[in-house]
Amino acid sequence: MPTTAVNTQKREYRGRFAPSPSGPLHFGSLIAAVGSFLDAKANQGKWLVRIEDIDTTRVVNGASDDILHTLEAYGLHWDESVIYQTQRHEQYQAIVDELISQNLVYTCHCTRKEIKAIGGIYQGHCRHKNHSLADSALRLTQQFATSNYDDLIQGEIHVDNQLAQEDYLIKRSDGLFAYQLVVVVDDIAQGISHVVRGADLLEPTARQLSLFKQLNQPAPQYAHLPLAVAKPGFKLSKQNYAPAISKKDPKPALFDALRFLGLQPEASILSLSIEQMLEWAIKTYRMELVPKSLEIQVSEDPNSAFCDFLTITK
Ligand code: GLU
Ligand code: ZN
Repeated sequence: MPTTAVNTQKREYRGRFAPSPSGPLHFGSLIAAVGSFLDAKANQGKWLVRIEDIDTTRVVNGASDDILHTLEAYGLHWDESVIYQTQRHEQYQAIVDELISQNLVYTCHCTRKEIKAIGGIYQGHCRHKNHSLADSALRLTQQFATSNYDDLIQGEIHVDNQLAQEDYLIKRSDGLFAYQLVVVVDDIAQGISHVVRGADLLEPTARQLSLFKQLNQPAPQYAHLPLAVAKPGFKLSKQNYAPAISKKDPKPALFDALRFLGLQPEASILSLSIEQMLEWAIKTYRMELVPKSLEIQVSEDPNSAFCDFLTITK
């Protein structure tokens, strides 16, 4: 096949940070922001921001603006205009329509509870039922099951075969487009070459890779950062009350984020400006410095410095 020339051509580096505006940025999301920013900048790349507000049931009023102001306070300036998923319904529907026209989509009436009762993985129950569109969820017939990929940080990843083969949701019964669909459509639209994000998305990545294949588009390379956890298995999140990071005094949290990512800043860099701290970090950062663990436990006490590196669990 005459594809060698294309494959060996290096893609322009385009990275992104894609927060969901379900609350203010906390230390866990700062890691994804700083990690993706440093990797892009250390590779002379562009760094984009996308607000993942597709699931309007989880959006908190004012959170998008608050997140953007926080990024600015941390010196994390994006290179192109911010995109918002809620403004892209037409593009998502166009992809859904294209998949429907290829006979790859079917309507499903199964509830989450029913799927849980059969072990949590959908088994194609409605594939030939031809439910009407009204109040139906839409599933994509999986043609490109992907169970292995190479992660730039975590190495070879293997995902359960059954999960890889699942006909997954692309549109929910409440009419909302599914995260799995929109994240890929957006990464294609933004020409993303590198996705650097938290290791909680290690498994969904296999599914996203299958969708890139389905849509016949080049997939980005993935690098999954260790997840900041309050205790093993519990990621810092709005749900477990991870405190918002300070916009007024960003240096301590930035300092901790750099340490979390494997850099070894000296305390003296705290006397620099935020921009100078980031300049130092861009010069010093290498992906190989990032710990190859899936989780790093950070202090639960919001008044102490976040990163005590109490334990590193893999
Ligand atoms: N919006 C997702 C989140 O906040 C991240 C998605 C991604 O980076 O692909 O968890
Ligand atoms: Zn079903």
